[in-house]
Amino acid sequence: MKKLKIGWFSFTCCEDSTIIFIELMNEHFKDWEKLIEFKYFRTLKNNNYMTDLDVAFVEGAIANYKEEEIVKEIRKNCKKLVAVGNCACVGSPSNQRNSFDQETKQEIQFILDRFGHREKVSPVSEIVKVDDSIPGCPMSEQLFLEKLEQYFREFGVKNA
Ligand code: SF4
Repeated sequence: MKKLKIGWFSFTCCEDSTIIFIELMNEHFKDWEKLIEFKYFRTLKNNNYMTDLDVAFVEGAIANYKEEEIVKEIRKNCKKLVAVGNCACVGSPSNQRNSFDQETKQEIQFILDRFGHREKVSPVSEIVKVDDSIPGCPMSEQLFLEKLEQYFREFGVKNA
């Protein structure tokens, strides 16, 4: 039986949408294990593969150069990229340092330099094309379930 091949990725954020997804598994895992192949989900498993994904769910804002490279790699390896939660969709609240005053920015500059941080923290759409969004802080459970149903049908896992 065909399964939806998904990846779940977390960047700069508090990872509460990951927690929401895990909590939803209490109720839905029995169905989902028949319908979803969790190819990349580090909260769930050790062996993760980023290649050939149907849907990549991306949580969090992009704060450093390493994250920027990884999200570009994810984009190359998925058919649909979905920004999950406000940090991924619009950058906030993980982008607070973007609005620091000049003095504070100067004060933290050595940390940004040492850890390869970008000049500003960006929503995912400023780095790669985003196909769909599930906003909320954390993500809306209801919308996530609706979107998942939509992707099951779109990728032929369930009949349209
Ligand atoms: S959108 Fe809210 S819940 Fe999600 S990672 Fe950002 S701060 Fe956390």
